[in-house]
Amino acid sequence: MEINRTKIIATVGPSCSTPEMLQSLVDQGVNCFRVNLSHGTTEDKKYYFNMIQSISLSSGGRPAILGDLAGPKIRVSGLANSYELNEGDLVTISNEEMGDNVIPVSKGVKFQKVDAGAQILINDGRIALEVVKHVSNSTLECKTITSGIVENRKGVNFPGVALDVPSLTEQDEQDLELALKHGADWLALSFVQSPHDYDLVRSRVRDIGYAVPIMAKIEKWEAVQNMDGIIDAFDAVMVARGDLGVELPLERVPLIQKKVIEKSTKAGKPVVIATQILDSMTKRPVPTRAEVSDIANAILDGADALMVTGETAMGEFPEKVIEVLNRVIEETESAINYQDHYIARGKRHLNTAQAISHAACSVAYDQNIKILITMTHSGSTARMVSRYRPAAQIIAMTPIEEICRQLSIVWGITPFVVKEYNSSDEIQNVANGILLREEILNEGQKYVITGGVPVGMPGTTNYLSVFKLA
Ligand code: PGA
Ligand code: MN
Repeated sequence: MEINRTKIIATVGPSCSTPEMLQSLVDQGVNCFRVNLSHGTTEDKKYYFNMIQSISLSSGGRPAILGDLAGPKIRVSGLANSYELNEGDLVTISNEEMGDNVIPVSKGVKFQKVDAGAQILINDGRIALEVVKHVSNSTLECKTITSGIVENRKGVNFPGVALDVPSLTEQDEQDLELALKHGADWLALSFVQSPHDYDLVRSRVRDIGYAVPIMAKIEKWEAVQNMDGIIDAFDAVMVARGDLGVELPLERVPLIQKKVIEKSTKAGKPVVIATQILDSMTKRPVPTRAEVSDIANAILDGADALMVTGETAMGEFPEKVIEVLNRVIEETESAINYQDHYIARGKRHLNTAQAISHAACSVAYDQNIKILITMTHSGSTARMVSRYRPAAQIIAMTPIEEICRQLSIVWGITPFVVKEYNSSDEIQNVANGILLREEILNEGQKYVITGGVPVGMPGTTNYLSVFKLA
């Protein structure tokens, strides 16, 4: 059973709004669906969550769901008719005033630090304005630098300016509860600014009685500045290239992406690369060479998952998109020498859990064993092993369905739910059961197994064995 190590996250939307389409995407290799909570009504959002929950995986259970909170994104808001701006036109940006020549934007933002000369970008940078006069903390007079048609709901970015915006908006608070109550296995927070954003979201999640992990979307210049702290605080990160390429000069995105992948994989935190992965396939059935190259490079750099957005949400060829992703992943991974990778990662100072996880990879390599089983309750043993990027396939066995789904976006892990086991004596039987049922190994073949005893204590990866399937 050769499987792809790099995972696929697909955003749902009008182009995949039937259970049949979602099932087909899962069959083609989607591991997790993203519900983008920036769009749609409460009913739309519930509809997508419920539909994903109805999809079955061949290995049991359902695919994972990533609930993506909109965060403090500033948008054109309440503009009745589209508005054409030509170079040199004067226009007012305001969240208080209405009227002719005013582009209304999200309420709750204060412009105290936006001075004359600052740049404002609308619709992913397609339209550029320059501030001529700071009229008040709610109103800015601007001149058009790059012309275009302003439409309602398009994003408005203030590159380089620290705006006074809340990390979680009222909308986010509602969406967060909706997502948790409708099966989100991961949450993502858009426009993260600092490591403290994690504490805020986590405490809300706990208040509602959940413990789902939280991913930081790196898409603001503040997040790039606070990269180390954010990687440390959050459970995972996403390089959200759409907004990142607007908040910062586009040419900085590739190197930032590489840095985030390098730092996250070193820290053992999953890292997702998102946006315009196969953008041209929104309208055409074949990708560009550049897109295929970009995907291959993200895989070679060690990303855990690739996330498509509009390609599956509103594109014309959602199934072809996943098919292409799969082919590029398969081909690129076949050329990677994983042995070099995990040895290099092993040079770092190691605690017991890390040392045992690393040793598990070494034992598998030395004995040419293809299957490395991690018994895990919290998911930590499996993530720890994944961090070393072993050549062996990582099978995670956990009695907890939520953990199984959380692990499905982590590099190289094939997770299964197993029945609850209470002592280390039962572990071998549990493992054998899955290996036989899923026809992963034949009788007499060896596997490496690692985990923590006593059972159920997270972070205590402390045993390592080689068993023969009997
Ligand atoms: P979004 O995030 O689709 O929610 O904007 C991705 C990005 O900004 O790249
Ligand atoms: Mn974004």
